[in-house]
Amino acid sequence: MSTGPRLESVKKNWGADIKSLKIVHIDMDSFFATIEQARHPETNGKCVIAGGTNQGGTLKGVVSSANYLAREFGIKAGMPMAEAKRRCPHAICFPVDMEHYQKISEKAFDIFYNFTPFIEPYSIDEVFLDLSGCQMLFGTIWEAVEKIRNQIYKELGVTCSAGIAENKLVAKLASTQAKPNGQMMVCADAAEEFVQSLPLKAIWGIGPATRKKLENYGIETVKQLADLSLEKLQKIFKTKMGEKIFQAAHGLDSSKLAISEPSKSIGNEETFYTETYNKDEVLSHLLKMTEKTVKRLGEEGFKTRRITVNIKYSDFSRDAASITLKKQVSDSQSIYKVAKSLFEKLYNGKKVRLIGVSLSKLENVKQAGEQKQFSIFEYGYERNERLQNAINLLNKKYNKHLVHYM
Ligand SMILES: [Mg+2]
Repeated sequence: MSTGPRLESVKKNWGADIKSLKIVHIDMDSFFATIEQARHPETNGKCVIAGGTNQGGTLKGVVSSANYLAREFGIKAGMPMAEAKRRCPHAICFPVDMEHYQKISEKAFDIFYNFTPFIEPYSIDEVFLDLSGCQMLFGTIWEAVEKIRNQIYKELGVTCSAGIAENKLVAKLASTQAKPNGQMMVCADAAEEFVQSLPLKAIWGIGPATRKKLENYGIETVKQLADLSLEKLQKIFKTKMGEKIFQAAHGLDSSKLAISEPSKSIGNEETFYTETYNKDEVLSHLLKMTEKTVKRLGEEGFKTRRITVNIKYSDFSRDAASITLKKQVSDSQSIYKVAKSLFEKLYNGKKVRLIGVSLSKLENVKQAGEQKQFSIFEYGYERNERLQNAINLLNKKYNKHLVHYM
């Protein structure tokens, strides 16, 4: 559970230059406790704690997560369950059910990936997203974040909070200040003032040991820290660490998102000889890339649930959109249909230089061989899959990409 201090006095809106914003940090609110609350609606409005394991009818161990009502009784993560029970006897306690929390987390990540493929999973309940390319799809970044939070609540019953900023540091600090169930944006022109309004211990990356060292130099606030020169901080700490602390004190953070695809992905992209405005031409390349990718998908024995389309424009700006499907697919007709609709949503009218498609969330399937007879009553995905298997077999047999259908 997040331990950063939340200050009532902190302003909720910082700056007006919304165009400077691209990074979002989302943190689920008291994740484990909120999940328990969602699956036990009778606990609504009550203190809920998730922690420990059930040993002979008693929960032994420590608190993992407490909802905001329980926190008012001083319940904190890491506190022995027995003490939590003493402080808040009427709290409803649940043993930790990691398997279930993991499943909910995966579903939340599916939702994030539907908004952008540029994601850094930070923990089971925290994520960084780069939404710089999503304006065409979901409105302003503020509106996109509202959509994400609403969808998470609607589908999973859990609330989350978000910070929107120019960089990861400020986004993470803002999500803490937005808790619970809120969102806050800090524009680049106000980032420094925002960071300097927080106490030293709120700053991400400044742990107790660093704080102690700074206190020896009489530094107790971020404002005081910001008055120190880079050279001075590099003298107190090592060169790199000193620079990091200096940047943090000024609301700066140059670290990039560690974008990770949780699973293997298969994809192809093509750079055009001649850049083009012609949508039909781009779509024909997208079709070609889809067929090439689906062929590999079949050869490697996978089905996919996530489809991503990448575009690069002549000014070298990039954009991408993905969607996670409820059902696995493996045929080019279904996949192209989705890829085409993603492209239609993404395309902003600029000259296109590159188009690509990639498939992830891959799941192993039994390969051809055991194909059943086609039935005229089968339509949609299953029918398309069988057809695709047959096409893959033919193409393999003749060692060429001979057959395709749309
Ligand atoms: Mg959390």
